[in-house]
Amino acid sequence: MGQKLLLDTVHIENIQTYEGYAKQGGYQAIAKVLKSMSPEEVLEEVKKSGLRGRGGAGFPTGMKWSFIAKPEGVPRYLLCNADESEPGTFKDRYLMEKNPHLLIEGMIVSSFALGCHTSYIYIRGEFMWILHILEKAIAEAYAKGWLGKNIKGSGYDLDLYVSPGAGAYICGEETALIESLEGKRGNPRIKPPFPAIKGLWQSPTVVNNVETLASVVPIINRGGEEYAKIGIGRSTGTKLISACGNVNKPGVYEIELGISVEEFLYSDEYCGGIKGGKRLKACVPGGSSVPILPHYLVTKTAAGEQRLMSYESLSDGGFATGSMLGSGGFIVFDEDQCVVRNTWNFTRFYHHESCGQCSPCREGTGWMEKVLHRIENGHGHMHDLDLLWDVQRKIEGNTICPLGDAAAWPVAAALRHFREEFEWHIKEPIKCLKGNYGLVNEPALAV
Ligand code: SF4
Repeated sequence: MGQKLLLDTVHIENIQTYEGYAKQGGYQAIAKVLKSMSPEEVLEEVKKSGLRGRGGAGFPTGMKWSFIAKPEGVPRYLLCNADESEPGTFKDRYLMEKNPHLLIEGMIVSSFALGCHTSYIYIRGEFMWILHILEKAIAEAYAKGWLGKNIKGSGYDLDLYVSPGAGAYICGEETALIESLEGKRGNPRIKPPFPAIKGLWQSPTVVNNVETLASVVPIINRGGEEYAKIGIGRSTGTKLISACGNVNKPGVYEIELGISVEEFLYSDEYCGGIKGGKRLKACVPGGSSVPILPHYLVTKTAAGEQRLMSYESLSDGGFATGSMLGSGGFIVFDEDQCVVRNTWNFTRFYHHESCGQCSPCREGTGWMEKVLHRIENGHGHMHDLDLLWDVQRKIEGNTICPLGDAAAWPVAAALRHFREEFEWHIKEPIKCLKGNYGLVNEPALAV
């Protein structure tokens, strides 16, 4: 049984309340910080922990914090990105719903380290019931003196607000989030300047994901070095994974980074194997935007080594034979699923969510959706595969924000590993409308 640092108390009935949280040791991290630590010492602990951003990019959190500019007389802001909208990813929602005070405490500690006196939780508009849970918990924290002026006599002031978005996936991109929080349309900004220099209202700003900020609490409680002992290599600590698709036990799990994918997928502690005893066809291990892995690359790397649930192992082989840990949305496909249909479905999502600022993303996602729809519905041509490959290549790396890449990568990986399934759809349009292709052969044909 792996260690649990974030979900260890979620089963306790009143953990959502201040009393329930405090009874389980809540608010000890911020008490320790205010009593005996400087902002620099908090930053040092986070650096020592090796914590990496849990939103998808995996950038070292301590390093990100150290970039924040500190001009005299200019406010700094900490923004919590609670706009979780990636298909297949639902772990931040679970954490906020079950344990809101953990996030609030993490935000107070992090705001102190960054020298912020006003912080915001930007939450997805569809999570209105969680907004109410958070607002109630924030009111409790104010009432108990953990927020507001002169927190517990320390001289430190902090105000914390929750602000809902309007249901746009793109507002999970940090500069789009900032624009939206300022009351504007959520269009990503051209960088530089980065938010650490000019963010919210042109002031230095750090944007961190919910799980990242919640993880700061156990880091302070046990110390950065102890936290770093969990995990493997540069993948330290624990990670929340939302498992869905054709598994026996879908749900949100906290794993120690470095366990094998095989253990996560097949053991009863986690997913419990493929539903109905069927064969594994493919897996998208880190949310809809990361490359899909065919069955023969899920539990083993191309070099034949055991694939681990870590940033490094999941990306082993680059995009030719690897994928990414991403946001931790672990989507499993059994042998009856259609990769063409799934790729079309993901692409339709990205086309719908494109903000439209850049032509490669706005037009390219639309064209990919049209071509994939044509192939899936038995009207495809062989040259459509070259067209798809060409369009996705012209999107990747040529856009203002990473949504373009997020739309291109799943298409590239599907073509790379499942070309024979795409060709079958084109050659056998009647059969593809009535049934599914099954497993692709190993090794897959390279595009
Ligand atoms: Fe908008 Fe897409 Fe360009 Fe991002 S990549 S700025 S979502 S058009």
